[in-house]
Amino acid sequence: MAKVELEKICKVFDNHVLAVDDVNIDIHDKEFIVLVGPSGCGKSTTLRMVAGLEEITSGEIRIDGKVVNDVAPKDRDIAMVFQNYALYPHMTVFENMAFGLKLRKYPKPEIEQRVRDAAEILSIENLLDRKPKQLSGGQRQRVAVGRAIVRKPKVFLFDEPLSNLDAKLRVQMRTEISKLHARLETTMIYVTHDQVEAMTMGDRIVVMKDGKVQQIDSPMNLYDKPVNKFVAGFIGSPAMNFINGKIVADNGLCFRTEQLKLHIADKQASTLSAYVDKPVVMGIRPEDLSEYQLVDAPKQGCDAHCKVDVVEPMGNEIFVYLASGSDNLVARMSVQARPEVRGNYHIYFNMDKSHFFDTATEAVIE
Ligand code: ATP
Repeated sequence: MAKVELEKICKVFDNHVLAVDDVNIDIHDKEFIVLVGPSGCGKSTTLRMVAGLEEITSGEIRIDGKVVNDVAPKDRDIAMVFQNYALYPHMTVFENMAFGLKLRKYPKPEIEQRVRDAAEILSIENLLDRKPKQLSGGQRQRVAVGRAIVRKPKVFLFDEPLSNLDAKLRVQMRTEISKLHARLETTMIYVTHDQVEAMTMGDRIVVMKDGKVQQIDSPMNLYDKPVNKFVAGFIGSPAMNFINGKIVADNGLCFRTEQLKLHIADKQASTLSAYVDKPVVMGIRPEDLSEYQLVDAPKQGCDAHCKVDVVEPMGNEIFVYLASGSDNLVARMSVQARPEVRGNYHIYFNMDKSHFFDTATEAVIE
């Protein structure tokens, strides 16, 4: 159990790549925090600096208040699970799990007990005599987690631990790691590029881009209140729709493009009044486009005529890809909706749920 603080962390590699740029994160005791972002955003480097596997160029990392910048990885009381599991091929599962404890000269009976306890938690008691090559990907992954658990570390670090598993197993292991977190009550820092993994597992999520933290928040806040266009587009699948247009005053405030004229909800009007006649980007999530008008929506000005490009059936819902003039939109709809491909389709915007971003800075306006 530990809190982990990253203060003004920067990492510049020898090739002058600024991989991590002024990162500040306060990770609470027992928290499950997920670092997420596209490839190359600096999440693995950040994790590796916490582990002590990568030197910090500037800034301070503290574990339970103690600065660990110059503390060797083995003395940081953390355990890391890697993407490739890094199991020793010539050792059995038992030996793999016991290895770290042996190095630290734990007494044999304690090693035995800890390995058996961890094996029970992970349901791999029957695999202890096997070698890694005799295991499936999912089983290897459990052994890698087991090797971390036996150490009873203050902090667990996970670097994309599920990316080598097939989709179904990934979903299963995701819940298992969440359950493990609830059971062990240990601080966990988890790196992934998969926003669904981040949303489903994290108490809080750190969204990174180009070495910088974009937003640190709970999953629902990230989804409902993204601070900029990048976060809004990164979290959620299918991604949020973005439409370039401008704000105009016309019987109240409207968002205008060549094709669309949408009435802005009252609650957003006062902030957006500063943007009259200025370009903005409107964001709206696929589920906030509907074939029905909302009961309390204004009579006019929240709808559009579109052409249906593609309909993707998902079983319990459909994704409808639409074109309104030069704007492309995706709507998430119930299976009862029956849009005809290449046909005309009338959709309603739930303007209460729309987001507006500054065209230049991409920061959220409202
Ligand atoms: P991925 O999801 O692809 O693993 P990431 O978000 O974890 O990406 P990092 O691996 O942290 O990203 O890399 C961040 C940046 O630092 C990238 O531009 C990468 O090319 C660079 N980088 C990483 N390791 C090194 C290194 N050892 N030497 C030089 N540059 C590096």
